[in-house]
Amino acid sequence: MKTLVLVEHDGSEIKDSTLAAVTAASQLGEVHLLVVGSGIDAIADAATKIAGAGKVHVADAAHLAHQLAEDVAPIAVDQMGHHDAFLAPASTFGKNIAPRVAALLDVMQVSEILSVEGPDTFTRPIYAGNAIATVKSNDSKKVITVRATGFDKAAREGGSGTVETIDAGSAGGLSDFVGVEESKSDRPELTSAGIIVSGGRALGSAEQFHALIDPLADKLGAAVGASRAAVDAGYAPNDYQVGQTGKIVAPQVYIAIGISGAIQHLAGMKDSKVIVAINKDEDAPIFQVADVGLVGDLFKIVPELTEKL
Ligand code: FAD
Repeated sequence: MKTLVLVEHDGSEIKDSTLAAVTAASQLGEVHLLVVGSGIDAIADAATKIAGAGKVHVADAAHLAHQLAEDVAPIAVDQMGHHDAFLAPASTFGKNIAPRVAALLDVMQVSEILSVEGPDTFTRPIYAGNAIATVKSNDSKKVITVRATGFDKAAREGGSGTVETIDAGSAGGLSDFVGVEESKSDRPELTSAGIIVSGGRALGSAEQFHALIDPLADKLGAAVGASRAAVDAGYAPNDYQVGQTGKIVAPQVYIAIGISGAIQHLAGMKDSKVIVAINKDEDAPIFQVADVGLVGDLFKIVPELTEKL
């Protein structure tokens, strides 16, 4: 089987989510990569070095600078003439493009796979991760999104792929890039961080959230996350949200502070390797998944912990 993996990048580096998709693709067959953008020689070069990479198909044109889904999807569809499976990371980027590819190919999409059981059989979470479904696709062309926490990352080095320039098409005119507003942070990105410190409703205000969570995260070199209650209350920005309707994370260490452990929050973090919970209620559901639990007032424990670190 020939697979085509969509490379997620920001123009300067390839995202870790791509590396998990490459591992999933390698379990299906030959791995080819698709790199789309403008002025992306360095990205294409980095893609050839990913362990297991074969051909790296590169569409480089000015109108692809922002990788608009409406312009990227037809390029992928074109390439699917000689590939059997299209895989994209189940990130915001991949989830924007893969369904369009599936629709244009008139096949169903297999979303957020956690494992490859066979050439047409996969597992994927349902009911917010509370059950795992084994699904089979009878489509001759497969379109798949890959949950990054389900697969090891392919090594960034060791590959010997070759670049093949492909037709970049022209701007479809279905959408235009207007602008982007990004929160800039020196902290690691939530979905690829080794350690995450997350705060919940109990923090009580944006000021207290930042006064307690940020210094602890800084001490640990950690990313900062939040429960939906904390985001809805305006203590933390939207892109901090971990859970069913937020980001799915699986760091080495996840520290949940003043988070009760609602099922929708657990759906986003329960695969973390070590879970530490700080909560004043010893019956809080978070303690059912925690490896280390501290029962007590976070306003006392967190400053003390930060100080000791
Ligand atoms: P709470 O449940 O209010 O918990 C606060 C905790 O802090 C309590 O356990 C309390 O004992 C503890 N506490 C209070 N004071 C202190 C103190 N001084 N010291 C120590 N501990 C203290 N939620 C998500 O997080 N992510 C999602 O993606 C998400 N998606 C959802 C999707 C749907 C469709 C729905 C219906 C809900 C979703 N939710 C999501 C919301 C979820 O159900 C919970 O409401 C939310 O996770 C609760 O956030 P919390 O744990 O911060 O707040």
